[in-house]
Amino acid sequence: MDGKLVPWREANVHILTHAMHYASSVFEGERAYHGKIFKSVEHSERLRKSAEMIDFEIPYSVEEIEAAKALTLKEMGLDDAYVRVVAWRGAGEDMGVASARNPVRMAVAAWEWGAYYGDAKFKGAKLDISRWKRPSPETIPSHAKAAGLYMICTMSKHAAEAKGCSDAMMFDYRGYVAEATGANIFFVRDGEVHTPLPDCFLNGITRQTVIEMLKQKGISVKERHIMPEELEGFQQCWLTGTAAEVTPVGEIGDYSFEVGELARGIAEEYEKLVRT
Ligand code: PMP
Repeated sequence: MDGKLVPWREANVHILTHAMHYASSVFEGERAYHGKIFKSVEHSERLRKSAEMIDFEIPYSVEEIEAAKALTLKEMGLDDAYVRVVAWRGAGEDMGVASARNPVRMAVAAWEWGAYYGDAKFKGAKLDISRWKRPSPETIPSHAKAAGLYMICTMSKHAAEAKGCSDAMMFDYRGYVAEATGANIFFVRDGEVHTPLPDCFLNGITRQTVIEMLKQKGISVKERHIMPEELEGFQQCWLTGTAAEVTPVGEIGDYSFEVGELARGIAEEYEKLVRT
């Protein structure tokens, strides 16, 4: 935390932390496999970019962030772990919306975190349809991995869990299919893969990895705007994300999908890739 090793229970912040009041915070979710973080540098670079997008600079270089993550994993004695890096505007002189006189702070935490969707990973996750829409890039810096973008995700996920679902699929402000609350989405129709164009949400590192894997297998991937009425015609579906990894989807609202060969195959291949 701020460059020092701090025991878990002492890694606290003041209640007047700017980020807690005004969402001036960015973060990363990463996974280490056999002690090594998959696409670690990409995550550190994205963290710095997310901060820039919400108007602050992280006072550590990518190399320093990399060293902090490696040290945290080592000190925690973790091999397979989830790594959370967070940077935020702290407490200080300013308690209003402006925060120029408050320090920018950063912390890294790591812990063991199993399958994000539990056994849905094998059976196919059941998704609700959220009432909240991913906002326009003119409303919020929608490509940042920033805390403010997650308020509607938490609300959507709670509503989904209350209905017995693992997560919720969200449409965007125009009504196109967007993503889940913490993962990107893919569909299969007649052997072709379709995935929403990430023009108002996070272009996930896992999403990009999976697109590359599919292309290398010679499978056509169409990144495009997907209309809600198209859901009926898709045969398979899966989610991608660092925490979610590749998780097949069995249902979205009233639509159902088979946990087919491609969904299962990509999930297995991703599992192999992250461990090599
Ligand atoms: N969308 C949202 C809203 C997310 O929180 C995440 C997880 N970071 C993703 C997509 C997937 O991103 P990644 O593959 O980089 O983890």
